[in-house]
Amino acid sequence: MLRALPKVDRVLEWPESAGLSPLHPRPELLAAVRETLDNLRRRVAGDHSAEIPGRGGIVALITAELERRSSRSLRPVINGTGVVVHTNLGRSPLAEQTEEAIRAAAAGYSNLEFDLESGERGTRYSHVERLICELTGAEAALAVNNNAAAVMLALSALAQGREVIVSRGELVEIGGSFRIPDVMRQSGATLVEVGTTNRTHPRDYRAALSANTSLLLKVHTSNFAIVGFTAEATIAQLAEVGREAALPVMLDAGSGCLIDLAPYGIDGEPTIGRYLAAGADLVTFSGDKLLGGPQAGIIAGKRELLEPIKRHPLLRAVRIDKLTLAALEVTLRLYRDERQALAAIPTLRMLTAAPEALSRRGDRIVRRFRRTLPPTVTLVKHKGESSAGGGSFPLLQLPTTLIEVRVSGASPQQIETALRRGALPVVGRINRDRFLLDIRTISDHELPALFESIRAAATVLAKEDT
Ligand SMILES: *Cc1c(COP(=O)(O)O)cnc(C)c1O
Repeated sequence: MLRALPKVDRVLEWPESAGLSPLHPRPELLAAVRETLDNLRRRVAGDHSAEIPGRGGIVALITAELERRSSRSLRPVINGTGVVVHTNLGRSPLAEQTEEAIRAAAAGYSNLEFDLESGERGTRYSHVERLICELTGAEAALAVNNNAAAVMLALSALAQGREVIVSRGELVEIGGSFRIPDVMRQSGATLVEVGTTNRTHPRDYRAALSANTSLLLKVHTSNFAIVGFTAEATIAQLAEVGREAALPVMLDAGSGCLIDLAPYGIDGEPTIGRYLAAGADLVTFSGDKLLGGPQAGIIAGKRELLEPIKRHPLLRAVRIDKLTLAALEVTLRLYRDERQALAAIPTLRMLTAAPEALSRRGDRIVRRFRRTLPPTVTLVKHKGESSAGGGSFPLLQLPTTLIEVRVSGASPQQIETALRRGALPVVGRINRDRFLLDIRTISDHELPALFESIRAAATVLAKEDT
């Protein structure tokens, strides 16, 4: 035990530290030693009875600090939650087909804003506009940083200093402080609330029209549902009000579906094309929710409405980045063939996975792991429910297969912690005193890694147990 903290240089001269120098660059080593000694100093200052470890102990702390410094902060995790579009876990995993395009855009120059035909300056927005129009039937389109930016930009360009009529049942908060009334204020528009929380009629919008009205806004109530005695104006009804008053109807569609998922038991989400066909003049939606692409926001609709948006100075602040654009273009191309989109886009594949197929996969996983996992680990198959997440289908429960992970001598909470803190973290959930992994959101190619993570967690738990 040391009585006082050593100096940085002295620590590096200890024979116990000899192994560190050849493995780490000197600046890294110095930073780690300094950080470790600072931590110890704080610990001793806060608690005078705290003991300073001996040389071996300090070197072990330095080694741990070096490891911490060298591991990346943003890392892959295995999503065993069954929430398909999990915002905290990065929303949509991208289709394999996007990898090459992202790498190519990242590693070299590109025609991002250069027209190869004419040799003149081009625009980055041209790379996906035609595709979005083709897939939605829109006249014009624009892709920006995310849907929050799309809504903000559209309102700034079309409604600044004027009134926007919204139903009281649609004044949503999405999370991360995106609230319709706040976004409205930020974009300089005046919110005119109509109707009630549970019922809003077309006549409520009509009664609120004024000489200063700029547009009628409908907002998808993405992450909640009002049930019971309810009424809302449909897009078609709003379009009629809009036509009478010569005002545009804008829809913040939130998730943004490009194909009808009703045949897969996922009802009630009209496609963007259907919204436009029903009379919406402008629709905004996310790239990384149900679309299954990268983080992006898409604005699609009438050419005359897109024009002021494309000229607005805020566009530069929310413009889409080239790697995102590369991924978005490839994702949208996959939608040209619906079957291909369903097979290749992980978000769609996971959402539409058949319960029987998940159950068979569950059997295979249990069988395969039983042969190779340590005897302290038991996997048990259960039935359960997954959810779509990402502020879509708040009431939807998809029948799924869960794998319970048991480790002898460890509680579900201990298993959860050990898996979450592993080298490849695995995130699951605890329900009725069981630690559960939903295999809907775990891909086949992740299984060997999952297996390794469970084995490593079991080793950690066995050490804790003794
Ligand atoms: C998710 C969502 C947003 C925000 O979209 P981001 O792409 O996350 O910025 C805005 N409006 C609605 C209705 C949403 O569901």
